[in-house]
Amino acid sequence: MTTLLQWLALVGLIAGSAYLWGRRVRRRLEGRISDLKRSILDVSLKMEQNEMRFHGIVEAIGAGVTLHDASGGIVFANPATQELLGVTLDQLIGRQMIELEGDALGDDGQPIDREREPVAAVLATGEPVRDLVMGICRGGSSERIWLVVSAEPRKDQDGRITEVICTFNDITERRRAHERIRHLAYHDALTQLPNRELFLDRLGVALVQARRRGSGVGLLFVDLDGFKVINDSLGHSFGDSVLRIVARRLTQAVRASDTVARFGGDEFTVLLPGVMTGDDVLPVTRRLQEFLRRPIHFEGRELALSASIGVALFPSDAQEIETLLKNADTALYRAKELGRDHTEIYTPALGERVRELLDLDARLRVAVKSGELELHYQPIVSLTDGQLEGFEALLRWHDPRRGLVMPGEFIPSAEAAMGAIHEIGAWVMKTACRQLGKLPVRAGRLPRVAVNLSARQFHAGDIVEFVRSLLKESAIAPESLELEITEGVALHGESATEKILRKLKRLGVRLAIDDFGTGYSSLSYLRRFPIDTLKVDRSFVQDAVSSREAAGVTRAIIGVGRQLGLHVVAEGVETEEHLRLLRLAECDAVQGYLLGRPAPLAELDDLVGKIPERWPKELAIR
Ligand code: C2E
Ligand code: MG
Ligand code: MG
Repeated sequence: MTTLLQWLALVGLIAGSAYLWGRRVRRRLEGRISDLKRSILDVSLKMEQNEMRFHGIVEAIGAGVTLHDASGGIVFANPATQELLGVTLDQLIGRQMIELEGDALGDDGQPIDREREPVAAVLATGEPVRDLVMGICRGGSSERIWLVVSAEPRKDQDGRITEVICTFNDITERRRAHERIRHLAYHDALTQLPNRELFLDRLGVALVQARRRGSGVGLLFVDLDGFKVINDSLGHSFGDSVLRIVARRLTQAVRASDTVARFGGDEFTVLLPGVMTGDDVLPVTRRLQEFLRRPIHFEGRELALSASIGVALFPSDAQEIETLLKNADTALYRAKELGRDHTEIYTPALGERVRELLDLDARLRVAVKSGELELHYQPIVSLTDGQLEGFEALLRWHDPRRGLVMPGEFIPSAEAAMGAIHEIGAWVMKTACRQLGKLPVRAGRLPRVAVNLSARQFHAGDIVEFVRSLLKESAIAPESLELEITEGVALHGESATEKILRKLKRLGVRLAIDDFGTGYSSLSYLRRFPIDTLKVDRSFVQDAVSSREAAGVTRAIIGVGRQLGLHVVAEGVETEEHLRLLRLAECDAVQGYLLGRPAPLAELDDLVGKIPERWPKELAIR
């Protein structure tokens, strides 16, 4: 019994403690579960917060972000996307990216087709696309914006693309700044035309294309006539406006596919793709010249521009850029030599001519330095009393190759050959002033020497300064020096010529118009220019004896000169008959073989001594 009771008590005890243990375990488990529940809640809260945060970031960033499904359709787009592409969210969802990127261009300017479009490319290849630059026209407008686009695939465990994330940034401003810098580097700031670098680049491209297509290219060098004079006399800011006007006119005169560039200074170049022969080019150069000739108005005055044009053709004249440039330059050189408003197309013969000129230029520079030049002097004699007035200095060249060369054979070429004429001119003036003291003089008179000035020398820009310092150095009386210019000088612009003449006149030197009647004669400038002497060309004197009409013209010229108060000198007086005729016409002085041929300094005393012998007896001295 006792044992039974003891068992029962034991069982009860066990059951009781098991119950108690169970309760404890349950309570503990319940605690754990609620802990677990709490932490799960925590996690999901955090996840929700994170998602909101990420969402906030994607919504807020300036970059466009789109999410695409496996077929490329947009399932999500952030507000930046809407703004960049200029469309609403409704218009975005479900659309393909390429439908929104109107008229897309790549960085290379080539259209971006479906194959290159980033989202389509990712779907096609499974590979990400990074930093593709593309220009699109947003919302169907014509305004192009530039984006840099990246697209990334997201894949499932089996490597299948489930979605594509695309991001894009607006780089329009950066690109514009870049383009501005590029523009500055490749364009002339004054005229906005392409500069030398860009032109050469385009010329290179044009040659490559022409070679491929079997077509030609025309290269034009356009150089304004007398621009330096405009610039010096009317001011640099006016000069700048002239260059801008020229740039505009040249551009208007050619097609949009042609390139007009400013090569430097007053030199412009034109590239004409597709022309083959001179016949193709000439209508263009004619149009260019016609456009340039239209008058420009400045301070109530009308200014006429003109340009000389040199043309070279690919492939007929040259195969390479360098030769083509050189040939166009040669042709321009020749065009300038032939006068204003001239076009010259390169030919090999022309190249030869220019080579000769350059050779002459070099030899003349040597001639100046090594004493091959000499001045001869020809007397000028007064018709009033048969006495000496002064001399004209005439240049002679003792060329080691050819012997004595007369100025007519090298001065015009030297003028064309650019540089040498300036050195020669300076030498002539210095020598004449230095030798002035050694020239025979009529008692009681100042010695006088006349020197010839070429048009190029006259318009070189520093002639006034040169004469000023020459007078100072040589300490001669300014009125002892007479400068002879021809009518051609006025062709460089009458007002510019007048300005220079006035400055020279203020220095006290005498001024003469040489060979009057042969060039561009205008009575208006005879009145306006501060001229002292009019030299009637020898052709008038020589014709006057054979025709009454010519004699009338000669008398009229002399009459006009005298009416204007000028000292009139007749050139080319070879016979007594010439002399009589001129005397009747009341000419002031004469120069010619009758009185004496040009002679070296050492022979002048002898020559002057013979003048009375040559003087016709019946021409009474007034
Ligand atoms: P120009 O200034 O008209 O000089 C007169 C020219 O006529 C000279 O020729 C002279 O020798 C020539 N002559 C003089 N009397 C007679 C005559 O009775 N009959 C004929 N048929 N001719 C006569 P030259 O010395 O050959 O000079 C020719 C031209 O060369 C000059 O014409 C002048 O324009 C130019 N020249 C001469 N020396 C210089 C110079 O130092 N500098 C520049 N730039 N040109 C010069
Ligand atoms: Mg002369
Ligand atoms: Mg003359």
